[in-house]
Amino acid sequence: MSPPPITELPPEMLGEIAIRTSLADLIHLSRTCKSLHRFLFAHNSRYIWKAKLASIEGLPACPADLSEYAYADLVSLSTSCQGCDASGCATVDWDLRVRLCQKCLSAVITTFDEARPPFRLRVRLGVAKFPSVKIRDLVRVRSPIPHGCAFVTKELDAIRAELKTMDVRTKAVFIKQRKAMMVEVRLHADQCRAWVASEVHAKIRSKRIPLIREKLISLGWGNELEIYYCFDDHPPCRRTGRTYSCALGSHSA
Ligand SMILES: [Zn+2]
Repeated sequence: MSPPPITELPPEMLGEIAIRTSLADLIHLSRTCKSLHRFLFAHNSRYIWKAKLASIEGLPACPADLSEYAYADLVSLSTSCQGCDASGCATVDWDLRVRLCQKCLSAVITTFDEARPPFRLRVRLGVAKFPSVKIRDLVRVRSPIPHGCAFVTKELDAIRAELKTMDVRTKAVFIKQRKAMMVEVRLHADQCRAWVASEVHAKIRSKRIPLIREKLISLGWGNELEIYYCFDDHPPCRRTGRTYSCALGSHSA
């Protein structure tokens, strides 16, 4: 008798399997068929994503305005575009919270010069009476690299629709709240960039330490290495540049 398809397993068992699956594989799994997607997206399955996120060392907490699944997708370090699923798309834009290929990104963003935001845009937004308000006070804005600042067009459209329904006083309160929220968003983006940098450094480190060990052994320092228990924390080993210096001189790794 052949085992039942994975989608027919009891939810508790499926959940157990999901928790033991790597985050990147779990994201791929959620896109393989409708029933798995439904299961992994269900409110009752939030515990799976929470557990997966909690298991990642040093990862900033999931922001309140993002679902655990959406956050897991960003931090899974997957290399597929969230728009067209094309591979080779490894860079997450932490400001806009997207991982998109250039073609998909161009289709969803609007670029602008933050030093001279178009007055028409402010009028369309309904904030012309609030001269100090910047676009980045209302929506997530990408830093001006490489082609000017940018925001996700539909995000600004949603804010515009909300502002349209408000009188001036309500708008002022709303803008103040958005401003505070955007400060938090930018802080979180910075924390995510720092986390990615630390992950990259850890990977480089894990690759270079065996090379350094090998080199030292070939130079006849094998016995000393045996007794130097904190070798991995030796400052030259912790560096992630292409060259390092130690008592033996400068080396590349
Ligand atoms: Zn794409």
